[in-house]
Amino acid sequence: MEVAVVGGGAVGLVVAGDLAARGTDVTLYERGALGSGATGRAAGLCYDAFADPTDAAVATRAIERYREWDLFTPCPYVWVARDERDARAVREQAAEMRALGLDVEELAPAALGERYPALGTDGLTACAVARTAGTLDPEAVVTRLAERARAAGATAHTETPATLAAQTTVETAAGTTSFDAVVVAAGPATKPLVAPLDVRLALNCYRAQALVTGPLDGRLPSLYDASRGYYWRPRDDGLLVGDGAHAVDPADCDPEADPEFVETTLGRIEAATALTPDVARAWAGCCTATPDRDPLVGPVADGLWVATGWQGHGLMRAPAIGEWLAERVRGESPRLDAPLSGSFDPTRFDGDEQFHPLGDPTADW
Ligand SMILES: Cc1cc2nc3c(=O)[nH]c(=O)nc-3n(C[C@H](O)[C@H](O)[C@H](O)COP(=O)(O)OP(=O)(O)OC[C@H]3O[C@@H](n4cnc5c(N)ncnc54)[C@H](O)[C@@H]3O)c2cc1C
Repeated sequence: MEVAVVGGGAVGLVVAGDLAARGTDVTLYERGALGSGATGRAAGLCYDAFADPTDAAVATRAIERYREWDLFTPCPYVWVARDERDARAVREQAAEMRALGLDVEELAPAALGERYPALGTDGLTACAVARTAGTLDPEAVVTRLAERARAAGATAHTETPATLAAQTTVETAAGTTSFDAVVVAAGPATKPLVAPLDVRLALNCYRAQALVTGPLDGRLPSLYDASRGYYWRPRDDGLLVGDGAHAVDPADCDPEADPEFVETTLGRIEAATALTPDVARAWAGCCTATPDRDPLVGPVADGLWVATGWQGHGLMRAPAIGEWLAERVRGESPRLDAPLSGSFDPTRFDGDEQFHPLGDPTADW
């Protein structure tokens, strides 16, 4: 079987590696450098703190593989609330996650403060911690996944933009090549790539921003503040902090962070920790979204497959969903025992749905 993969981000690289490892002849096309899309701009949070059983199964398998590949650094993931409504949500989610067998603990804010003295706990109404969470270094992920795909026999053409001349025919500046199947994992570009073949995807985009601080004195976990809507993770002796998300046309997705984002974020860290951060670097990237916040993964036409719509969780899910997709493209029974084909079916929408990529941006999480 000969398969083309369009897109050399985490998802395309896992699919290419898993297909090649099973004996498929794989050619990957990447329009820039490997990892030059959202993958190289990700924060690198990786956790199994999902209350939905399908999401939890995907996360568990993904973490298992990242561990095998020596790419996973354990780091507890704490999420906190600052009002009663969010506190109820934190408690309910923690209980649901525990019922799924996940290693999640609810903590009193004071107990969290004892564990992490650098963390201010004033004003917190609830906290939970996922103990099997961790972090990833996106650059190391891309390097390792690319090595793995090449070692399994896949061929990668970088700086090679591709289009689809037909469902299973790829066109580049070098000419057209026909395959038995084509997998398009091109992030936001997946939608315009398949559109000429009359495939309409319910896919929108939003811009997310992040910054890394200089070194900070104090041990902190990864954290998501559900009431204030931002997250951080330890990075380079400081913190990587992210938020600043807003709807965007992918063509207008400025890769530089906004000065207002940097200023607000530094203020947030000062307010939450009593540490005084400065900025080492800041950036932005383009994330994909769907009407129901589940991805679009599966066949959209005979021999043509898509994988996109990660709603900011594509890096952490790539090893599990890429594996599942590779097995399906080859017609094998997927190893992942979760009902993904229904909930992730890319044809479950008409493709002309109007929706905000962040849901209702004024609503609480
Ligand atoms: C600031 C920020 C923080 C994030 N933090 C996290 C996080 O902590 N954890 C997490 O799991 N996720 C996070 N994400 C989301 C994550 O980055 C994405 O979900 C994930 O990287 C998607 O991977 P992908 O392979 O589908 O897409 P991409 O990495 O975007 O790869 C798609 C590739 O396709 C290529 N391409 C496009 N068009 C063509 C074409 N015509 N021909 C050839 N190649 C083409 C692009 O150049 C690109 O390299 C974050 C994103 C941002 C922006």
